[in-house]
Amino acid sequence: MVFRAVKGMNDILPDEAQRWQYVENVFRQTVHRHGYSEVRTPVVESTSLFVRSIGENTDVVDKEMYSFERHDDSLTLRPEGTAGAVRAYVEHALHAKEPVSRWYYIGPMFRAERPQRGRYRQFYQAGCEIYGDKGPVSDAEMITMLADFLKSLGIEGLEVKVNSLGGADTRERYRQALLDYFRPFAEQLSEHARGRLVSNPLRILDSKDARDQALAEKAPSILDCLAPEDREHFAELCASLESLGTPYRVDPRLVRGLDYYTRTLFEIVSMAGELGSQNALVGGGRYDNLVHELGGPKTPAIGFAMGLERLLLAIPSQPSATETDCFFAPLGAVAARKCLVLARDLRQNGIHAEVDGRGGSLKSLLRRADALRARFAIIIGESELADNTAMLKDLRQHSQQTIDLTTLPQAVAQLVHNTKTQPVGEST
Ligand code: AMP
Repeated sequence: MVFRAVKGMNDILPDEAQRWQYVENVFRQTVHRHGYSEVRTPVVESTSLFVRSIGENTDVVDKEMYSFERHDDSLTLRPEGTAGAVRAYVEHALHAKEPVSRWYYIGPMFRAERPQRGRYRQFYQAGCEIYGDKGPVSDAEMITMLADFLKSLGIEGLEVKVNSLGGADTRERYRQALLDYFRPFAEQLSEHARGRLVSNPLRILDSKDARDQALAEKAPSILDCLAPEDREHFAELCASLESLGTPYRVDPRLVRGLDYYTRTLFEIVSMAGELGSQNALVGGGRYDNLVHELGGPKTPAIGFAMGLERLLLAIPSQPSATETDCFFAPLGAVAARKCLVLARDLRQNGIHAEVDGRGGSLKSLLRRADALRARFAIIIGESELADNTAMLKDLRQHSQQTIDLTTLPQAVAQLVHNTKTQPVGEST
């Protein structure tokens, strides 16, 4: 029997994991500079948390959750990060401890969707949440932080789309306006959209079906239904984005698959084409009622989630693989033990060192050093052991020298350091 990974769930092997770490590190640095701190919540939560927050008539809750019963509990693998973060915010009464909380997370999410390029059943999201700030200044700052982050990764053809869903009143008025508009065309809608006419008419705007899209083109705009305070909030968001010089497009038909959004809504897509139809890199928006709905005090909030797989598909050039500074090639068991000690000393000096203790000929050891793109190889054989020395080969300059073992860690650390601080293009 041959075991394979579950459909839609992928292994990330070490070669690829380097790219993940790179993106995650840039993300962490970016959000730290903006005052966010990391939160880690469980991957399993009560099913009812997601039903309550994401909404019953959404695709996610309706058909994509991995739920299971355990004793008397109904549990679900988290399909997104916001619900758990809000649950934790309320459970630990963060509102009483600080007026504004800025959180970020990176972790796996699970949705039983039809797998395709850029769409998986286990996928990773990096996201941020701000609690206790009603915006729109923070909204504009969050959107700009994201746009700058994506640009810094070299992703081209980015488009920032923004919209406002207003508050509950606006949503209800708009729902009615959409019903009035779509009902006469019910026969022309796709079957899926006809179902949505009853359950969630806003999502018809989001349909990928050409018939629905054609009708949605002329549907009323939510921006015409906004209450005056919502309209002002949205206008200020746009003005802040303009002062930050962040290009954006107002898309009155932008809606999202989760029910909790209010007011500001945004999406960042990559138009460069690598992603095909799954080109939404980031989705986010305000959810000013959710903290209260989940048992906390009235607390405005905004957040986004970004799919890391899609980000990695969209990044053009990859950072080069790490190179080994020093490769130890011991000839024999006694030499191998010496090398272990020397390598540990070097690592304590911040040097990347590897010891090949598998034995074999010098030739085969040096082949391995080349494969690892090692800068230096340190060879210890019988004659070196007798002299308490090592042969140091510079594999790029093709030179070699004998070094006394007592001074080796300092001498090699200095050499590696010098090669790293050399200006690009110069060599020793
Ligand atoms: P959502 O949580 O649905 O608003 O999605 C936010 C972002 O997560 C999307 O823009 C994608 O980048 C990513 N995403 C959502 N679902 C998937 C999936 N099934 N596979 C990969 N990435 C996803």
